[in-house]
Order: sequence, then C-alpha cells, then structure tokens
Amino acid sequence: MTTESGISRGESAYEPVIGMECHAELLTASKMFCSCENRFGGEPNTRCCPVCLGLPGALPAVNRMAVEHVIRTAIALNCSIESEAHFDRKNYYYPDLPKGYQISQYGKPIGSGGWLDFEVEGKPKRVHIRRVHLEEDTGKLIHFAGDSQRSFVDFNRSGVPLMEIVTEFPPDLHSADEARAYLTELRAVLTFLGVCDGKMEEGSLRCEPNVSVRLRNAETYGAKTEIKNLNSFRAVERGIAFEAGRQATLLETGGVVRQETRGWDEGRAATFSQRSKEVEQEYRYFPEPDLPPLRLDEPWLERIRATMPELPSSLRNRCLTEYGLSAYDARLISESRATAQWFEAAAAVGGDAKLVVNWMMGDLARLVNAAGASLDQCPVTPQRLGELVTLVSSGAITGKIAKAVLDEMYATGEPPAAIVEARGWRTERDPAAIRGLVEQACNANPEIVADITLRGLTQKRGFLIGQVMKASGGKADPGEVNRLLDELLARATGA
Ligand SMILES: [Zn+2]
Repeated sequence: MTTESGISRGESAYEPVIGMECHAELLTASKMFCSCENRFGGEPNTRCCPVCLGLPGALPAVNRMAVEHVIRTAIALNCSIESEAHFDRKNYYYPDLPKGYQISQYGKPIGSGGWLDFEVEGKPKRVHIRRVHLEEDTGKLIHFAGDSQRSFVDFNRSGVPLMEIVTEFPPDLHSADEARAYLTELRAVLTFLGVCDGKMEEGSLRCEPNVSVRLRNAETYGAKTEIKNLNSFRAVERGIAFEAGRQATLLETGGVVRQETRGWDEGRAATFSQRSKEVEQEYRYFPEPDLPPLRLDEPWLERIRATMPELPSSLRNRCLTEYGLSAYDARLISESRATAQWFEAAAAVGGDAKLVVNWMMGDLARLVNAAGASLDQCPVTPQRLGELVTLVSSGAITGKIAKAVLDEMYATGEPPAAIVEARGWRTERDPAAIRGLVEQACNANPEIVADITLRGLTQKRGFLIGQVMKASGGKADPGEVNRLLDELLARATGA
C-alpha cells in the first residue's frame, strides 16, 4: 500500500479523475438575505435574526454586493452570464438548517461554461468550469465529546453569502498536484477580485474534491467518492493522493469502490467512510417563491466589467517583465492579493525587486511564521522593508547586519535607518581600519596563510574572511576585505 505518492506520479496503471466543488464565503458587510453582520466567529447566536433562522413570516431580500461578487468571479472565470438568474429552494433536513431548506441556484445559475488557466510544474493547464452560483451558508454544529456528549448549534454563519464553483464533467484534473495548483490559482483569483478572503483554516474557502480512478486510456468512469473536512491546501493534496491510491489498490485486488462521502483524518493522513451515497439525495428543488428572478442587465454587467481589478495571471506577467523576477518568485508573489500588494508597496520603496522578494519570502517570512502571524499583522510595514533593502543595495549596511536590523525592526517596529545609527551598524569602509583587521586575522592564523600561499589551497581564504567579518561585528565592507586580503596574500607569496 505505497500508493499515496505512487499514483500521483503516474506510476500506476490507474489514472485519477478529479472534480472539484469549491465554496467561497463572500466578503460582504451583511448576510445574503438579511441585514445581519457577516463576520467570522463571535459569541454564538449573536448575529442572527428571523430571516437567518427562517422563522414563519420572515422575508428574504437579495444582497446586491453578493450578486456582484459572483458576477465578477464568473467574468474572471470566462463564464457566460445569464441575463436572468433564478433562486431555488434546496430542501433537506439537517440540524444546522432550521428552515429545512437552503436558498440556492439550480436550473439558472449566474455563470456557466467557463475555464481557468494556470500552470502545473511549468506546463499550461486549463480546467473547465461548469457553473458559478450563489447560495447561503448553513449554521454550524459544535460537538462536545466526553461525559456530556452534547451538541450545540451556532447560527452566526447561517445565511452568509456563499458562492459555489463547480468544475466541468468530464473532469480535467488527473493528479493531486494538478488539483492543488487549480485550488491555488482559484484562491488567488478570488482574493485578487476581493470577493473572498481565501482563509481555508477559517472555512471561508472550502473544497470538496470528488475522486475516482480508471485504467489509463479507459473511456468509462469509475465510482467516485467525495472528500470532506479538508481545511488546508496540504490536506486537499494529501487527501486526493490517498483516496486515489486507496481506490487503485482496491481495484487491483478485486475490490469494488463504493460511491460514498469520506472524511479526512489529518492525524492518520487517511480518508474514512462517512456515509454511503448509493441513493442520490432527493432535494426536491423548486423555485424560491419569496424572491423574484435576478435580472442581470447589460449596463450592470458592463459597469462591473469596467471595474474589474488586475488578475493574478496579469500580475505574474508584470513580475517577469516589469520587475525582472523569476517565474518561481512571480508565482509566490501572486498567490494572494495581500501578498501581491505588500510586495508592490515594498518594491516601490526598495528599488531592487529581486532583493525585496528574497527578504520578504526569506527572513521576514521566517519571523512572521515563528510568531504564528500573517503578513497583514506584521509589525514591519512594506515601506520599512523597502527602506531596509535600500540600505543593503546601496552598501550602507552588509547583508549580515541587515538580518540583525530586521530582527530589531520586527521586535520594535522602528525604522531601519534609526536602528543602524543607534547601533553604529553602518558598513566599515575605512581601508586603514579594515587592513588592521586583515593583518590581525593573518597573524593569528599563520598555518592557514601558508596553506594558501605555499600549497595553493585558495578555498581556505573563506576562513580568513570569516575571521575579519567576525572581528568587525559583521560590518566590514566585503569588497574591501577581499581586496585587502588579496593584497596581503600576494605580498606573503612574494616574500
Ligand atoms: Zn439575519
């Protein structure tokens, strides 16, 4: 059973076939059909009203911003947009759904028939999108284990505007890597559009892949399973790889894949059976009688088209042409709007875009991660990182000193120039002072000098340079140190 990675690398006789359903909670001030505040968390059941709860006589009213967010997404995903979209009731009973139905879109979604282009390991990939529609989120069940074994329900999430993006059948995705790349690009698009914050850990972006396998080059499709409870990119990737591997092993050993819903157990890194889906749930969809059809007229669509923000693919191009970044860096920068904006603000100050990326993704990311924070909560602003990069690229401080400056900036929030002045950390350029340090290092290590000058072991220069840098507290200008060391060694060789 070594199929987890095996199948995703294409070593198996079986090919995974993956469809994706993604739910995105939309960034609006109020909920989908009432004026309750739309915000994550909070004291349970403090942000709900008769409409959220579906009490008798409550009437929904459509949130215009939510509709515009879905239209924006449909445009970005190259979908056709219906001139009239309908709301339907999806009837089912569940404890987190007090109305007994969810308002959704069935026959006439807002967008349909689109696609999303991205790259997987440098190769272009297109995933076709079947539909983009609008619905409302449900409440949330909270289960307590232990003696009491009670369950509670929080309706704060009930009625939050939810967009669903469904990939086309037959599915275009055939590996866990491709599925992850699709989700990464989709998340970037949503955050660039400003329609969703993309936080998988808070459930504002949720993804339910359905996975089946078939013999390579087969024309038919196998039974598929749907994976739930995936709350990170890593979980999506591992969940799909595991599930494809499990199914391939089953088939190879004469077993049968059952159509079912499976959960993902992060600790065991395995999927497990949740409920069998042998009989398709009957939702008895019918038109929502309390809401009129949505008329999406051309002037409205035109206004939205005219105000579409830049998309990740365009930023990636600019990263290559305008900033001269590598394709790898361009991809990192364009993973979310927050990252992209942070980078552009820092690069506007710091000049050297490549250096800005290195600092952002290297030492700064290390500090942010260690604090368990994110870039938007970082005490170092883009402006300040730009200033630090300017100090390094102008030679005012060395790279080694810059790391210490960044640590202090992170701890105190002070500007880098002030830290450098207060600590006397400017680069030491005085040739006389540096010559003194170089001589000191050579005198203290005659055997190393001899190795270099008599035995030609030039790689040992690094040790002497290290000694000089250490003695200068990391401040000596590396160019000057190199020049003076060469001078001294040449003299020693000649002697
Ligand atoms: Zn409400």
